[in-house]
Amino acid sequence: MAFIYIDFDEGIPRLAYSGCSRCSSLIGVSLSQIKNRGCCYYSPKFYPVEIQRMCHSEEGLAVLDSIISMPDTVIHDDHILVKGSYDIILHEKMMKDGLVPLGGNVTDTSVFFRTCPFVRSGSGCTLSPRYRSYVCNFFICSEILDNPDYKDKLKPYLRERENYIRFLEWENNQLIMAMRGEGLTFRKNLNGAIEFLKNIGINQYDFPKLEPIVIPDNHTIGA
Ligand code: SF4
Ligand code: SF4
Repeated sequence: MAFIYIDFDEGIPRLAYSGCSRCSSLIGVSLSQIKNRGCCYYSPKFYPVEIQRMCHSEEGLAVLDSIISMPDTVIHDDHILVKGSYDIILHEKMMKDGLVPLGGNVTDTSVFFRTCPFVRSGSGCTLSPRYRSYVCNFFICSEILDNPDYKDKLKPYLRERENYIRFLEWENNQLIMAMRGEGLTFRKNLNGAIEFLKNIGINQYDFPKLEPIVIPDNHTIGA
C-alpha cells in the first residue's frame, strides 16, 4: 500500500508519495553513475521565496552558503540555478548502441543520464523540504497524474497546488520588485540581497490539510 499526502516541514508543505522508494516508472530510470535516484534528474532553481527562508536562520544561511559554493551554481538576477550532472558521452554511446529505453512519457532521453547534485543514491534528497525548490516539493510524476484510478482523488491536491504556486509566484515577484527598488539582484550583489531578505518578514501560507490518498499495492507504480 502507498500513500499520497501533504507533509509539513516547519510549516512548509510538500506533496509526498510513499511509493517512490519502490519506483519502477520509466522516468525514474537512471543510466548515469548514480543509481536509485528516483526522478531527481532535475537541475534545481532556488527562487526568492526559498532564498528568503534560508536567510532567516543560521541553519538556512549555512545551506545557502553550501549552495552558492557548489561548482555548477549559476547566480541569476532573480534565482539561483544549481546545474546537475549530464553524462553526454554515455548518452551518445548508448543511443548509438540502441540501449536507451524509448517510449512512455519520456520525450527527452537525456533525463536518464542526468542527476541532481543534491540526491544520494537510495536515500533521496539531502536538502530539508523547507529549503527545497517548490518545483521539487510539488512534483508529481505523470504516471500518477495520468492514472485514471486516482485521478478524481488527486483533484483537491492539484487545485491546492495551483493556489499555492500562485501565492509563491506573487511572493517571488514582490521580493524581486522590493530588491530592485534597492538596486539589488542576486547576480549584481548577492550579499546585499541576502542582508535585505534577512530583514523582510516571511508571509505565511495556510496550506489546507488534505485527506491522504491510499493506493492499494496492485496500483502502486513504485511497487
Ligand atoms: S515521483 Fe514517480 S517517477 Fe518519481 S520516484 Fe516517485 S514514483 Fe518514481
Ligand atoms: S533538489 Fe532534492 S528533490 Fe529536487 S531534484 Fe534535487 S534531489 Fe530531487
